[in-house]
Amino acid sequence: MAEPDASAFFLAAGLPAAWANQSAWRCLDTAFGNGQQFLRVWNAWRQDHNHPRILHYVGLCTEAPQLDDLHQAATSQPDLSGLVKLLVNQCQTLGPGFHRLSFEGGNLLLTLCIGDLSKLLRQQRFQADTLLLDPDPAQDTTDGRWDLWRVKALARLARRGSGLALRSHTGGLLRPILQQCGFVLPAPLAAERAEVIRVEFQPAWQLKNSRVDAVVPAVPVTRCVVVGAGLAGASVAAALARRGWQVLVLDKAATPAQGASGLPAGLVVPHVSVDDCSLSRLSRSGVRMVLQQAQALLRSGADWDYSGVLQRFPGSEGDAPEPPPLWHTQAGWMKPAVLVQAWLAQPGVRFQGDSAVGGLKRQDGLWQVLGDGGQVLAVAERVVLANAHGVLPLLAGDSNAVNSSNPVTDWPVLRTVHGQVTWALHADSPPAALAALPAFPVNGAGSLLPHVPLKEGMAWLAGATYQPDDEPEPGAQSHHAANLTRMARLLPDLAAPLATMLATSELQAWRGSRCVSADRLPLLGPLTGGADQGLWLCAAMGSRGLSLAVLCAEMLAARWGAEPLPVEAALARSLDTGRGRSNAP
Ligand SMILES: Cc1cc2nc3c(=O)[nH]c(=O)nc-3n(C[C@H](O)[C@H](O)[C@H](O)COP(=O)(O)OP(=O)(O)OC[C@H]3O[C@@H](n4cnc5c(N)ncnc54)[C@H](O)[C@@H]3O)c2cc1C
Repeated sequence: MAEPDASAFFLAAGLPAAWANQSAWRCLDTAFGNGQQFLRVWNAWRQDHNHPRILHYVGLCTEAPQLDDLHQAATSQPDLSGLVKLLVNQCQTLGPGFHRLSFEGGNLLLTLCIGDLSKLLRQQRFQADTLLLDPDPAQDTTDGRWDLWRVKALARLARRGSGLALRSHTGGLLRPILQQCGFVLPAPLAAERAEVIRVEFQPAWQLKNSRVDAVVPAVPVTRCVVVGAGLAGASVAAALARRGWQVLVLDKAATPAQGASGLPAGLVVPHVSVDDCSLSRLSRSGVRMVLQQAQALLRSGADWDYSGVLQRFPGSEGDAPEPPPLWHTQAGWMKPAVLVQAWLAQPGVRFQGDSAVGGLKRQDGLWQVLGDGGQVLAVAERVVLANAHGVLPLLAGDSNAVNSSNPVTDWPVLRTVHGQVTWALHADSPPAALAALPAFPVNGAGSLLPHVPLKEGMAWLAGATYQPDDEPEPGAQSHHAANLTRMARLLPDLAAPLATMLATSELQAWRGSRCVSADRLPLLGPLTGGADQGLWLCAAMGSRGLSLAVLCAEMLAARWGAEPLPVEAALARSLDTGRGRSNAP
C-alpha cells in the first residue's frame, strides 16, 4: 500500500475546519518521528485565518528527532523548509523526558515527549481535541505495539467528540479494541476505501468522575489580578495575556522588578544532581523555556547572552579529585529586570505601581484586591499572589477573606534568605583580574559572570552569599569576602587580584532577598479549596527565579486552560502548593 501523504492525517482528522475560531486546540501525535505531521499542522495553522489562538501539539517519540532526518525532510518539502529551520534550532540537546518548545511568539507550543510510549501517555494530563495515531513501523515490537492497555491510555486523553486519525489498515487491526475503548469507527467497507480514516471518541457509557477529575476543565478566559511585578508575577501575566486574559499587575513599588528581580544580572543554568532530582529536571525544562523567551524578547549581548556555562565541582570530599567540569550549552546570563519589563509590555498586561496589597475579599463570586487602607484596588475573577515573602502577611491577616472562605489551615512554609552579589567594572579591576576572567560564566560553589554590560560599563559579577533571616547581618565587606573565597575555589587565578580589590574597597554590592520554600522548590497552585479555585500562589523561586519563573507561569496557564503540561504530571505535582499536605485544596 502506498504511503499516505502527511497531510492525509490532518485532513482526515477534520482539520482545519474543526479548530476554526477556537481559543485553543490540542493535538496529540503518538509517533512524532521526524516531525512531518507537526510541520504540516503548523503550516496549516499559519495559513488559516480562523486558526485557534493557541495551538498545542504534543508529540510522543521513543528517541529525540534526528537533526539529519529533519533536514532531509526539509529538502524533500521545500514549502516547509523555513519551519524546519525553526524546529531544528530548538531541537538541540533533547534527552528523555518532556520538552516544551515555543514558536510563533508562544502561540504554537510543541511538547516533545521522549521515552517509553505507555509511560509518556500516563504522564499526560489534558484532553486532546485531535489524536493522530500512526504507529512507527520500526516500533512494531511487543513494546511498541498498540494493545488494549495502550488504547485505553489513549482514550483517557480524549474528550467526547475528539477525532482520531489513523491508517485504515491500522484501524482494521485495532477495530475491536478501539470500539471497546469508546471509539466509533466508519463501517468496514467505507474504511477500506480510504487510506486514512477518522474515528471519533463517543463512548456509549457515561464517562467516570474519576476520569474527569484527572483534567480539571478550562476556566473561562476573563480578568486576573497578579500581585507582584517580579519574575514570578510578570511571567504569569505574560503567559495568561497570550491566552487572551486581561491581566492587571499590582506592585507596592512604583516601578517593576524592585525586589529580588532587581538583580543586575543572573545565571540561567540547569541544576545538576547525582540522582537527577526534581529540581534538576524542572530547572532543565525551565532554562530551555526562558532562553526561548529571551531569544524572542531581549537584545542578545546587551540584556542576555546565550553564552553557555561551565559547571565546576570544587570542594569534593576528602582527597577525592574534583570531578571533570561539565559544559552546559543551554545556559547563559540574563538581566531579570529587563525581562520583567518585556513581559509587562505584552498586549493584555497592565502594570500599576504604588499599589501595596493589604488584603483580599471574596464578594459576589469575584475577588476584591484591597489596598493597605482597605480600599478596593481591583476586582477580578482570579488572583495570583506572586509577591514572594509578601504573601505571608496577606495569608496571615485576619482582615482578609482568604481564611474564612477556604478550609486550608496549614499554609506553606516560606523563608527569607538574604544575599549579596559582588561586582566591579572592568575599568576598575586590576589587569591581573581581567586577564584571569574566563570568556564565559562559571558555576560551582558560587558563580561568576565575567562580561556583563551594565549602564555603568562592562562589569563582572560574582555571587552570591546566603544569609538566613534569623542570623545577624555581617555587613557588606564580610559578604564580599565570602564571595571572593568561593571565587578563589572556583577560579584560583582570580584569588590574588580579587583580594587586592577587597583590601582597597573597589568592590560594589547588590543586595536582595530570596523567598524559599521548605524543600527549595517553587510553590504553585490554588490557595482556596472546593469549587472556587480562584486564588493562586506562584512564589518561592529561591535562587533560581530566572530558570523557574517561565516554567511555573506556563504550568499555571496550562492548569487553568486544561492544556498539556510542559513537564511530566508527576514532576508537575512536585511544584503544587498542596504537596505533602493532607488538607490541600
Ligand atoms: C543575591 C541574589 C542572587 C541571585 N542570583 C540569581 C541567579 O544568578 N539566577 C537566578 O535565576 N536567580 C537568582 N536569584 C534569585 C532571583 O532573583 C529570584 O528567584 C527572583 O527574582 C524571584 O522573583 P519573584 O518575582 O518571586 O520575587 P521578587 O522579584 O522579589 O518580586 C516580588 C514583588 O512583590 C512585590 N510585593 C511584595 N509584597 C507586596 C504587596 N503586599 N503588594 C504589592 N506588591 C508586593 C515586591 O515589591 C516585588 O516587586 C538571586 C537572588 C539573590 C537575592
